[in-house]
Amino acid sequence: MAIPSFNTLTVSPIPALSDEINQIRLDTAKIVGEYIIPNEDKLSDPDQRPQLVEELREYVKDADLWAPHLPKEYGGMGIGFLGHAYMNEILAWSPHSNYIFGVQAPTSGNQSVLIKYGTEEQKKKFLEPTIRGEQTSCFSMTEPDNPGSDPRSLQTTAVKDGDEWVINGRKWFTSNGDAAAWALVMCRTEEGDGSGGVNEKMTQIIVPTDTPGFTIERAVPVWGHSGGSHCEITYKDVGVPLENQVGSRGSGHQAAQDRLGAGRVYHCMNCVGQMWRAFDLMVKRATERQVHGGLLQDKQFVQGFIAESYMDIQASRLMTINCAEVIDSGNDPRTEISAIKVFVPNALHRVVDRAIQVHGAMGVSGDTPLAGMYQGARTLRIADGPDEVHQILIAKNVLKHYHEGYTWDFGVL
Ligand SMILES: Cc1cc2nc3c(=O)[nH]c(=O)nc-3n(C[C@H](O)[C@H](O)[C@H](O)COP(=O)(O)OP(=O)(O)OC[C@H]3O[C@@H](n4cnc5c(N)ncnc54)[C@H](O)[C@@H]3O)c2cc1C
Repeated sequence: MAIPSFNTLTVSPIPALSDEINQIRLDTAKIVGEYIIPNEDKLSDPDQRPQLVEELREYVKDADLWAPHLPKEYGGMGIGFLGHAYMNEILAWSPHSNYIFGVQAPTSGNQSVLIKYGTEEQKKKFLEPTIRGEQTSCFSMTEPDNPGSDPRSLQTTAVKDGDEWVINGRKWFTSNGDAAAWALVMCRTEEGDGSGGVNEKMTQIIVPTDTPGFTIERAVPVWGHSGGSHCEITYKDVGVPLENQVGSRGSGHQAAQDRLGAGRVYHCMNCVGQMWRAFDLMVKRATERQVHGGLLQDKQFVQGFIAESYMDIQASRLMTINCAEVIDSGNDPRTEISAIKVFVPNALHRVVDRAIQVHGAMGVSGDTPLAGMYQGARTLRIADGPDEVHQILIAKNVLKHYHEGYTWDFGVL
């Protein structure tokens, strides 16, 4: 039997989902499979990319699939958290999809924060231009001299001076810093006055990137590539109006948690989609490549790779969907979020590693998306909170529960 084209996704309706979400998944798969994946070479070419992105965005908008992360009143799809999670595993088949569908981290996270915490004026001035695609933004939290894994340690300060916040400090790994029109900056505002608990010392403040004193020192080279967008930035006496404060004073830590909590589910569904594609590439290669007198598919080592990858994907997918359901139900999802944040990027790392191995040299070349996926998987074990920090949180939550006299209920949503 002929093996079908592996560039087209096989997506069927899921009985437990509504007709609306199933249709969205099918429509998304059509655009990703038929228009984006076959054009990935062109989308990676800086000369051809801009026009093609514009054309593809028109398809997306015509199909009512623009901005799945945003509510309808802000120009998005309004499909809620679970709907977006289910769509994401399909978007993730191509590294180009999210941008074409109007979801671009870190701006998408900033948009969610402004929708929840922003004033009407901030929404008009900063949020709406990003939704219209006229501006992008960045999120400036991590610092070179303090551990990002403990955001309470951050030292960039904002001090009130008349009708301004004046910001001083140094950040790095501010992704998209070079292209952003404004940065959402995590600042220490509450030191010395005795107010607030340990998690109430920070405030997020919007800084237009053309404000005097905002200086991009360099793009930090990542994975050997210089000229990227992960910027090291100094803030020297950067003055912005008090109205640029997002949410109440001291709410910066909570706003970061809100952003990262939901973001981690999307990241994990993205990981699932990438694993799914890596798996298809691996299986296809195994059915075609002859080595030592036989197809790779007939070697037991490779059969082991296929079986282990299948289990990694299924486990990751079900864990992530369960976590999304816990969030949707309104129960405390912190343990589930930390669990997927550790398990799923590690599973992606393993699946892509096996797919690379099966491809031999081709696996580390630029001729497949695997090398980029591998770097992304490894990076994700650090970004958004390193593995160890989340493992500590899982154990802490479980132990607290037992010390309160309960056992853990794995069935609860
Ligand atoms: C590609 C990329 C893009 C990024 N984009 C952004 C961005 O847009 N904006 C932004 O603000 N930040 C961004 N980051 C930064 C990221 O969020 C931080 O790197 C992350 O939070 C970890 O902080 P750190 O690098 O300071 O590591 P540290 O906090 O110094 O931790 C180093 C290591 O220590 C270990 N560790 C930490 N705590 C414990 C513990 N309690 N017990 C045992 N071991 C521990 C972990 O293994 C950890 O990896 C990005 C990072 C990368 C790699």
